[in-house]
Amino acid sequence: MAVVGSTDDPTGSPSHPPAPPQDTPAEPAASAPEPTTSADGPTASAGGPGASGGGPGASGGGPGASAGGAATRPPGGEGATRPDLAGAASPGHLLALIRTRPGWTRQQLLTATGMSRTTLFERLDQLFRAGLVYESGSTGATVGRPARLVRFDDRNRVALIFDLGQTHGRIAVADLFGRTLRMATLRLNIAQPPDRLLPDLLDRADKLLRVDENAQVVGVGMGIPGPVDVATGRLGASTTMPGWEDYAIKDVVRSRWDVPLLIENDARAFARGEASASGGRGILLAVKYASGIGAGIVVNGEVIGGADGAAGDIGHIRVSDEGPVCRCGRQGCLAAWASGWSLLDQLADQGVHTLDDVVQMHTHNPAVIAALRAGAERLGRVLAAVVATVNPDTLVLGGILGQLPLVAEEVERWVRADAVERTMQKLRVITSRSGDDSATVGLTLMVAQHVLAASAIDAALGVG
Ligand SMILES: [Zn+2]
Repeated sequence: MAVVGSTDDPTGSPSHPPAPPQDTPAEPAASAPEPTTSADGPTASAGGPGASGGGPGASGGGPGASAGGAATRPPGGEGATRPDLAGAASPGHLLALIRTRPGWTRQQLLTATGMSRTTLFERLDQLFRAGLVYESGSTGATVGRPARLVRFDDRNRVALIFDLGQTHGRIAVADLFGRTLRMATLRLNIAQPPDRLLPDLLDRADKLLRVDENAQVVGVGMGIPGPVDVATGRLGASTTMPGWEDYAIKDVVRSRWDVPLLIENDARAFARGEASASGGRGILLAVKYASGIGAGIVVNGEVIGGADGAAGDIGHIRVSDEGPVCRCGRQGCLAAWASGWSLLDQLADQGVHTLDDVVQMHTHNPAVIAALRAGAERLGRVLAAVVATVNPDTLVLGGILGQLPLVAEEVERWVRADAVERTMQKLRVITSRSGDDSATVGLTLMVAQHVLAASAIDAALGVG
């Protein structure tokens, strides 16, 4: 059994409070660049004719089918950036507009797009027939007949998310705004061969999906603790995941769900979620500090993936010529000094066996405190170089160790001690606000952005 333990939440109720819609835009605006995040071509998964739909009463379905009325609320709200209406000519662009302006009437759409009534209604009709929009509610006009409101039909459309770390992971079913509807957390060993581990994970996901028979998976997102080229989904070489390099994950997953699969490094997935929580603007450096150490850099909403798909792989920077032997075979890597697995080695004689033990003992066990401080110093000094390189406005620390106040304070102290002031005048160092949810949110937004891209919608509708 590859999955060695788990905690299911089969009840169907959201496992975490849904993030406010304005914090988790599925796609910030119609003018956002379309993603180039997968080799998957646009597919009919965005909703072929009749793929979803039903009237407003169709929502609800099984438990957890909807996060409640808020599920159809807009990303960004009224204050969101005005979409580029010039592109509203195609159904895909029109849908992008409707997604950012839910609760608009046909008349408002006419005014905003400048389209002729005939053209707009024709485009809308295509979207209605595909089950991508529906009408509900009304303007509540006191004079004349109230006008119906046109909304994006996100009901029952879900993303299936695998957020895999080295020793822990979660499988989640999320709505297209990134809100977790159901999830299972699990302990795993990512070093296992993929053909042993993946089938178990997919079976678990199947079980989670079956809770709601109305759920329609439109895409799968997967975070893995290794290098990956997001554009192609190709996994790079990694000591953490031996046997996964070039493994055809896509084929295996698509044999279960024939929808786009988007794969991202786990730390960068975390960074994506954190960036969306802060509105997607600015320069964000996010660090996942758990069994391993990884980072993600997001510049104005764009994640830096790197030429080798390895951007943010800071764990194997050598910080000393001598020192402990790393799992990569070299001496003196940051991970060999400071990673979660290194701390467990260092603290074995303290009765510390897991990172949960570290967390439990970090307030009172002097050896645990000392090891955490020393690890945070190593991490902070490496991050000082990163801060000087990218000059971020925000450094977010996450992961089971990174979120500890003791670690965050020590990391910040060393970043500020080592970097020069002019590279951090605007820098604020914070711990993750969403914790383990961030990567799930980040992966869901990748999926939503891909399958709801105007070009993907147009292709699914056979236009454009
Ligand atoms: Zn190493």
